[in-house]
Amino acid sequence: MDFHRQRVGRLLFCLAAQLIATTLPPASATAQAPKPEELSESYRGSQRNNVAYQKVAPFKVFDNLYYVGPGFVSTWILKTRDGAILIDTAQEPYVDHVVDSIKKAGVTPADIKYILLTHSHLDHFGGAARIAELTGARVGALEEDWRLIEAAGNRPGRDNAPPPGVPRRDMVLKEGDTLTLVGETLKFYRHPGHTPGSLSAEFNVYDNGVAHKAFLFGGPGPRDGVAGGEQFLSSVNRVAELPGVEVHVMVHSWLASYPYPNGGIFERAIKLQSRKPGEPHPFVDTASWRQWMNTIREGAVKNLDDERRKAAAR
Ligand SMILES: [Zn+2]
Repeated sequence: MDFHRQRVGRLLFCLAAQLIATTLPPASATAQAPKPEELSESYRGSQRNNVAYQKVAPFKVFDNLYYVGPGFVSTWILKTRDGAILIDTAQEPYVDHVVDSIKKAGVTPADIKYILLTHSHLDHFGGAARIAELTGARVGALEEDWRLIEAAGNRPGRDNAPPPGVPRRDMVLKEGDTLTLVGETLKFYRHPGHTPGSLSAEFNVYDNGVAHKAFLFGGPGPRDGVAGGEQFLSSVNRVAELPGVEVHVMVHSWLASYPYPNGGIFERAIKLQSRKPGEPHPFVDTASWRQWMNTIREGAVKNLDDERRKAAAR
């Protein structure tokens, strides 16, 4: 290299170093730069209160499983030869949309035999009273969360609104109970943590007739406090031990505390739309399930440590 090139090189290096020094944000600001909002995330993020945006068209995920919820919270229809099962119900102002979506999914409301409530938060059970009345379906939840649903029906809502309509206590499900309709059996679990009585269920979904083991984790995030943290960790440990889970039937398209790897419901739905014959089903994803189980377990341990520290500081 001749002298001139060396000099120019050094000059350019100095200029570049100066530019970097003056234009780079401080390291802390870089670390805080927000990630671009993904589609599933947008339903709880920037579009949280955009009612028109939340009213997504229903879509078929498996031969027997349809998504009929708004974007923010899942509502699933599980079809059997003996009627349908509705899993969670969303809340107002989305209940009419859920009913429309059920019809668009090819189910007559009167064919819904059961409504299962994963847990006692309004976004999951808020439509249950109206849909139960409309369909005549039986409503099932765990004992602990029936109590919380009933309590919610007896106190004013947000901003002193009248109490929400709540379903009448009907089926009190227990760990180990099963529900059999023609061609489908659901097995129930009590997985407290997110609420004292979060309901999980295991069942089969079919992709062009091929069965896959699906799992609905009814409360996939902790609640505040040491007791909730302990319950959540022990539930997560139990869920992680379940063998052969291939499909995670998510209660939200996004999962906040422990984001689901490789896409939430809507990222997978888009892949499903363009799936070609012979390609794998984007919701059949054991690897993501196992990866998520590890993440959620580590998160549950850390959450419990934090809750214990907070309690000790009080
Ligand atoms: Zn919840």
